[in-house]
Amino acid sequence: MTASSAPTVIAPSSAALGADGTPRTYEVRTFGCQMNVHDSERLSGSLESAGYVRAQTGTDADVVVINTCAVRDNAAGRLYGTLGHLKSRKDAHDGMQIAVGGCLAQMDKDVVQQKAPWVDVVFGTHNMGSLPSLLERARHNDEAELEILESLEVFPSTLPTKRDSVYSGWVSISVGCNNTCTFCIVPSLRGKEKDRRPGDILSEIRLLVDDGAIEVTLLGQNVNSYGVEFGDRQAFGKLLRAAGQIEGLERIRFTSPHPAAFTDDVIAAMAETGQVMPQLHMPLQSGSDRILRAMRRSYRSDRFLGILDRVRERMPHAAISTDIIVGFPGETDEDFEDTLRVVERARFASAFTFQYSIREGTPAATMADQVPKAVVQERY
Ligand code: SF4
Repeated sequence: MTASSAPTVIAPSSAALGADGTPRTYEVRTFGCQMNVHDSERLSGSLESAGYVRAQTGTDADVVVINTCAVRDNAAGRLYGTLGHLKSRKDAHDGMQIAVGGCLAQMDKDVVQQKAPWVDVVFGTHNMGSLPSLLERARHNDEAELEILESLEVFPSTLPTKRDSVYSGWVSISVGCNNTCTFCIVPSLRGKEKDRRPGDILSEIRLLVDDGAIEVTLLGQNVNSYGVEFGDRQAFGKLLRAAGQIEGLERIRFTSPHPAAFTDDVIAAMAETGQVMPQLHMPLQSGSDRILRAMRRSYRSDRFLGILDRVRERMPHAAISTDIIVGFPGETDEDFEDTLRVVERARFASAFTFQYSIREGTPAATMADQVPKAVVQERY
């Protein structure tokens, strides 16, 4: 089924009104990446379209929504810890509802309610628009609701939004990922890559600018493969140039690129489009070619460094940041030395460094030669 890109209408919901007829309040808590920050703005927008109002800071909301992350093993600990805290609040707050969504809900499904039976609604990454109706059904039937879809129903970008910032906006250009990095759970939770049409993206940016935004961040699990779904390998470079034509837009950023698909037309588009900021977050993950092969990252360190050289030829002052995982299964001292060598050569402006941790359901979780925690800590 092709994910719909037509605007999604969220009808006012009777469940949005309290016993005294005043709107019920909501709060959305976000764990994880920028894609989740974007999605949380859509969850807020959907609830407001249904008639809920955002709770004042420091007040107990009638509805608490947790948008979860599943990337690292402590993600589960954070969710169930938070749900433990919320139980006592719910016991003291008549009619309060708790909803859990996002990647960990998509992965754990009914386990969430088994572990926390006081959770009213569990929904996934493919049906965020259903939240208001699921809350209504749970309240009406006084019974917990669970709805997890295996493929995308509507593009999250078609849902109403409630942006956290006036001057900047997150604009998703694609959802899902076709890569199979062996440490990553995302493809099994967000599905195969689905691309939005360039026209829909540019219209959304124009609306944001009309609404006062001067900066946008284009979002995708792998923005460089944007266009794969409609057969245009140069679609991302063209999108950057087209966005640069939008009157009133001052800054364009994007995340996450992937070294394997990062092509020179994108470097040229960045250098020749004034609004595109000379800033690039390019995940390296490891500097060892042997480990990159085991990670199934489909590039090697020389290609990675080659891209950085070509970026700096066109944008000498570009700020380049990265992601690095230390302690991936099988990583030897020599492999780690390779990573340090590439980091030295790359002259990153900043880096997010992660200690490898087993994520059930990923190929790396069952690999031999898991690195002892103390060694991982030391390398970290
Ligand atoms: S590119 Fe790799 S790490 Fe990134 S989301 Fe896709 S599978 Fe995960």
